[in-house]
Amino acid sequence: MIEISKVIIIGSGPAGLTAAIYAGRANLKPLVFEGVQPGGQLTITTDVENYPGFPDGVMGPDLMDSFRKQAQRFGADTRFENVDKVDFSRSPFKVFVGDKEYKALSIIISTGASAKLLGLDSETRLMGHGVSACATCDAFFYKGKKVLVVGGGDSAMEEASYLTKFAEKVTIVHRRDTFRASKIMQDRALSNEKIDVMWNSSIIEMNGDPSKNGLESVTIKDTITGDIREHKCDGVFLGIGHEPNSQLFSGILKLDSSGYVVTKSDSTQTTIEGVFAAGDIQDHVFRQAVTAAGSGCMAAIEVERYLESK
Ligand code: NAP
Repeated sequence: MIEISKVIIIGSGPAGLTAAIYAGRANLKPLVFEGVQPGGQLTITTDVENYPGFPDGVMGPDLMDSFRKQAQRFGADTRFENVDKVDFSRSPFKVFVGDKEYKALSIIISTGASAKLLGLDSETRLMGHGVSACATCDAFFYKGKKVLVVGGGDSAMEEASYLTKFAEKVTIVHRRDTFRASKIMQDRALSNEKIDVMWNSSIIEMNGDPSKNGLESVTIKDTITGDIREHKCDGVFLGIGHEPNSQLFSGILKLDSSGYVVTKSDSTQTTIEGVFAAGDIQDHVFRQAVTAAGSGCMAAIEVERYLESK
């Protein structure tokens, strides 16, 4: 007989683990499947300077370890396992991890978002061989090297600034002639003498052999004139934003045109009663750790009310 949990939480970033803290304190004994990136995106970042309560900043992985410990203290069962399939057609809802089936009266989805890629075959081929989507994970390998950062938002600025701790030269490649990043992050990047910018430029090919030296150059197209040129570099870091990890719920829950899970306004309720979504999987506007944590709290409170009403 499969035991029926009161709530299963899928995903373990700030949203999922905050939901676990609140659900644990409500005595719901949440079962948390942490997924492929336990702790979420903050585990691949270094200094988090904007999470309230840490006047001197906090390291992302340390912050998420604290979230997890706090959830466990209130009885959350957190597991380093990944959910491969769900069946929300009737309650109790079913969640599958490999061939193992779990059941729950309610679900909180907090699977977050992942870094976007340009979509080039050569990018996939050279990923890990000169191409990366995480400066904080890989910058160390580029000591004294020349690297490019793609994008014009806060992520690109943050990656570029971080990379200057290791690389000799960092060039931001942006497809337009203005950044969309916040002023403070632009100023920080642009005032760094190791950083320069290639405006109106798109990478259309990445050149190199993963079995030899890895990435050696990129082919760049001028987005105004259409001119094409080759640029030698040792690394390319993608900082072009994120996409929601919602493939598991496609055809099951209503998703918006970008793939984010749709929730009712001022609520975390999805299109299926008893299934809630919190954090970056349903928020493409704010996407902050603190807003994700806030919506995780909302989801747990809504689960508690939903279960009481049944
Ligand atoms: P974003 O704001 O969506 O910016 C993505 C950037 O990548 C844009 O400049 C975009 O160009 C470019 N881009 C997108 N697709 C591209 C493609 N296929 N080829 C070339 N360029 C492409 O994403 P983000 O920078 O990840 O920021 C997302 C949110 O997180 C924002 O709200 C941001 O404030 C927040 N954030 C905050 C921090 C922080 O405070 N420490 C750090 C990171 C992110 P266009 O401008 O031409 O569209």
